[in-house]
Amino acid sequence: MNDQQSGTTLVCYRCGATAEFPDRKRCECGEPLWFDTDDAAGDFEWSAPGPGTDARPGVWRYADLLPVGTSEGVGPVDSVGTSEGVGAAAGDTPLVRAPSLDADAGPRIWLKDETENPTGSFKDRGSAVGVAWAAANDREWVGTVSHGNMAISVAANAAGTDARAVVLVPEDVSAERLAAIAQYDPDVLRIAGDYGDLYYATLEADSPVEFVNSDTPLRVAGQKTTALEICEAFSPEVPDAIVLPVSSGGHASATWKALRELQHAGLLAANEVPRLYLVQAAACDPIAEAHRDGADEVTSVEAGETVAYSIANADPPSGTRALTAARETGGAVLSVPDDEILDAKAELARNAGFCVEPASATTLAGIRRLSGAGELGADESVVAVLTGTGFRELDVEGEKPEVVPLEGLSARLRVLTG
Ligand SMILES: *Cc1c(COP(=O)(O)O)cnc(C)c1O
Ligand SMILES: [Zn+2]
Repeated sequence: MNDQQSGTTLVCYRCGATAEFPDRKRCECGEPLWFDTDDAAGDFEWSAPGPGTDARPGVWRYADLLPVGTSEGVGPVDSVGTSEGVGAAAGDTPLVRAPSLDADAGPRIWLKDETENPTGSFKDRGSAVGVAWAAANDREWVGTVSHGNMAISVAANAAGTDARAVVLVPEDVSAERLAAIAQYDPDVLRIAGDYGDLYYATLEADSPVEFVNSDTPLRVAGQKTTALEICEAFSPEVPDAIVLPVSSGGHASATWKALRELQHAGLLAANEVPRLYLVQAAACDPIAEAHRDGADEVTSVEAGETVAYSIANADPPSGTRALTAARETGGAVLSVPDDEILDAKAELARNAGFCVEPASATTLAGIRRLSGAGELGADESVVAVLTGTGFRELDVEGEKPEVVPLEGLSARLRVLTG
């Protein structure tokens, strides 16, 4: 291991055991590992914004807390802390107040618009860090197990770098999904066999490919930056709650890790940590089920179909860690049925102008339920993380509007506006 590289030690949130990256990704106790960044977090401060400062682009603003270098710029951070390539375009997304979505006696709603990432989802944050690590460590191959946003994101982030991407998709992947991935020219392998087992099969220590899967340490590190940006934007205030859709539990884990680091840095007092509310689709809700049952571990479920296709992981590898995150922050894990998800998706578009995936709309559906149950008060600020764009699926059902002959247009417009 190159001794300039910082942050190669991994630690288990549950049992405290440590291991070295990249040899291991999961703890012997069965739980996923994340980078031990506590020392770096101890010295972390918000950096001064504006021109003339050494502000790095996008997620690299938080390079001090990422496993790719140090604030002195030694080692690999030099190669990633520049404005080069698509990895420099990940993150730094808008956080907007959306008063048009506030309901009577509901909380004040903020939207974190992750659809503005280069490939339209927050996955770019983790892919940027994963690919940068591979490049800085002379690894020729990065990979992922996905046929959705993560596949697109890893392929895009590898494009234009010295690393090549290999994407493992299920055998029955649709042509539309393949085309969306293939435009970035990764190697794509269709895998026959259990897709859930495949996740674990790719984490072997001597793999020639560095797999940046849903909740692997590099991905979780990069995805911490969503919450770091939210908290920095609110600073010195703090949002009362953050709501995000959850599938593998990688993003939820990363959000929790970020909040812990900010506490460690003294930037967040113990009594002001935002509550994490995690939302699943009712047809596939293993983490919400464990929460309802008061269970300590998340176990796999028999999943049904849901419109929220990006969050349909029936056996989430970071499920227990996500459950712990919700509980430790005083939040909860809930699930919402498809009709409420589609209503929320429509409401986000019609009343606020945001076009998101059904998976992302679970946040607003969740907020409505939480506020109905009195868990979110009218005086509270809540951030809904809009994880992914709806622009990729505009060809789904829906009625076509009327046809108006060109000659009749002005008459029709007068009727319309009359
Ligand atoms: C991946 C994804 C999620 C779920 O994130 P996890 O880290 O797997 O829990 C939510 N929304 C969208 C749009 C996604 O692509
Ligand atoms: Zn452990």
